[in-house]
Amino acid sequence: MTDCIFCKIIAGDIPSSKVYEDDKIFAFKDINPKASVHVLVIPKTHIDSLDHLDHGQQDLMGYMTLKLPEIARSQGLNNGFRTIINTGPDGGQEVGHLHFHILGGSKIPGFN
Ligand code: 5GP
Ligand code: ZN
Repeated sequence: MTDCIFCKIIAGDIPSSKVYEDDKIFAFKDINPKASVHVLVIPKTHIDSLDHLDHGQQDLMGYMTLKLPEIARSQGLNNGFRTIINTGPDGGQEVGHLHFHILGGSKIPGFN
């Protein structure tokens, strides 16, 4: 039994608004959206963070990255989107299961 909330979401033990699923990845709406579209994309296998990847996961990371535009378009983001990965405490990571944020729906301000 895992304590990871995202593993529980994948298993269906915690409900979520799923937007995409296949054998490798799961995508669902963020419960506290920071933009009109805010989706999280996660690997089905538990990986703590970018800091915990190993070389055997290169193909999975490539696969996830290539899926992001497709998932973004499926949510109506036809004119671009922002992708964020927070890593570790100083990176603002709150959930310890690697995830890509996809944000969009209107022009997102720059960082500056
Ligand atoms: P982090 O800060 O770790 O990069 O992002 C974690 C994200 O997960 C946050 O944006 C937060 O709103 C979202 N989140 C946390 N718990 C849940 C949950 O139970 N369900 C969903 N759908 N999103 C969650
Ligand atoms: Zn997990």
